[in-house]
Amino acid sequence: MTSLSPALKQATPVIVDHALGSFIYGADGRRYLDFTTGIGVTSTGHCHPRVVAAAREQTGKIIHAQFTTVLHQPLLQLTEKLGNFLPAELDSVFYANSGSEAVEAAIRLARMATARPNIIAFQGGFHGRTVAAASLTTAGTKFRSGFAPLMSGVHIAPFPYAFRYGWPEEDAVAFALRELDYLLASISSPQDTAAFIIEPALGDGGYLKTPAAFLEGLRERATVHGIMLILDEVQTGVGRTGKFWGHQHSSITPDILITAKGIASGFPISAIAAPTAVMAMAWPGSQGGTYGGNAVSAAAGVATLDVIRDEDLVANARIRGDQLLSGLQRIGAGHQGIGDVRGIGLMLALEFVNRDGDADPQAATAVQQAAIEQDLLLLTCGARGNVLRIIPALNVTEDEVDLGLRSLDAALEDALS
Ligand code: PMP
Repeated sequence: MTSLSPALKQATPVIVDHALGSFIYGADGRRYLDFTTGIGVTSTGHCHPRVVAAAREQTGKIIHAQFTTVLHQPLLQLTEKLGNFLPAELDSVFYANSGSEAVEAAIRLARMATARPNIIAFQGGFHGRTVAAASLTTAGTKFRSGFAPLMSGVHIAPFPYAFRYGWPEEDAVAFALRELDYLLASISSPQDTAAFIIEPALGDGGYLKTPAAFLEGLRERATVHGIMLILDEVQTGVGRTGKFWGHQHSSITPDILITAKGIASGFPISAIAAPTAVMAMAWPGSQGGTYGGNAVSAAAGVATLDVIRDEDLVANARIRGDQLLSGLQRIGAGHQGIGDVRGIGLMLALEFVNRDGDADPQAATAVQQAAIEQDLLLLTCGARGNVLRIIPALNVTEDEVDLGLRSLDAALEDALS
């Protein structure tokens, strides 16, 4: 009998029958509170009626209108609506299907626009699984090892993660910028460096906010040296952190912004945005793709952005994020083995450590598995797999947050005591 590849690592045994809002209904008849949202994708909850209606209607008009052959209304509308959220300078958009493809498009653009080869990424970052995106990804060796050689011209600089490098917390930004300057002086000179690429908060690498001062330090160096600053907002964008874009927690504007995941509530579409003058430095035809900017995905994207605006979901992410963070701090204090509780908006995490303060992935997995017994779906992350991440829908309610906290408390009790 043919079966799914064992290379897929299943986080839960759940087979979904259907889903609505914050809940997944299993084929086994159980109802699960979904704090995974398809890895931060179903921003408006599962099957939001306005998203479903928009996709249904578009499916009856045209499904695939290949965007280098013919244009279609949903893509033009989505571009206009995205423009309401994008920094004014980033007035040109290119579409693809997935986060990884958009990362590739951004790298292609940065190299063409600067005529320079090298890309500097930051340790712990996740940028995708295609070979070029994987070469920028250092959120764990499972994303890289065994299929080298990866793309050349990539250099990895330290992320300002005080705990990991044993740096004093207050010096982490200065130390990481010093290491970056050393890299620019010793390995990849500015005239060979096309771009810095970074997430406004590490996603798969451990749900760790990128300090505003670090982004500002990168911006300064990028501007001085003509290096493109690429922000990968695939996970942090579209309201997830309590601002529409994760970088809005700082004062900077990127040269290229990458978005995907939450933008269409689960329909595959991704985009990069840049100033028209930069975008124009990639020749017509140098970016493309058969499925990019799919009409049904674009219609779902338009509906998603409308729902986010009409239901004030960015503010909800802030309010429910605060509720969840204070609840996590409360229940975290009652259990051994939780080294850190953190969150920005609805991107929250518990980090598990053993008695010596070392990463404890077994504890994180045990809690994630125990949560399934409590009908709560969660994921782990972090290079060492010791971080439990909590990513509810942007329209999660007060009661759902309370339910999740009660279930998580019970799972912690089961798994850790
Ligand atoms: N960048 C970031 C920040 C991500 O979180 C992800 C996905 N987890 C990607 C890129 C890759 O996106 P995709 O899986 O859609 O290729």
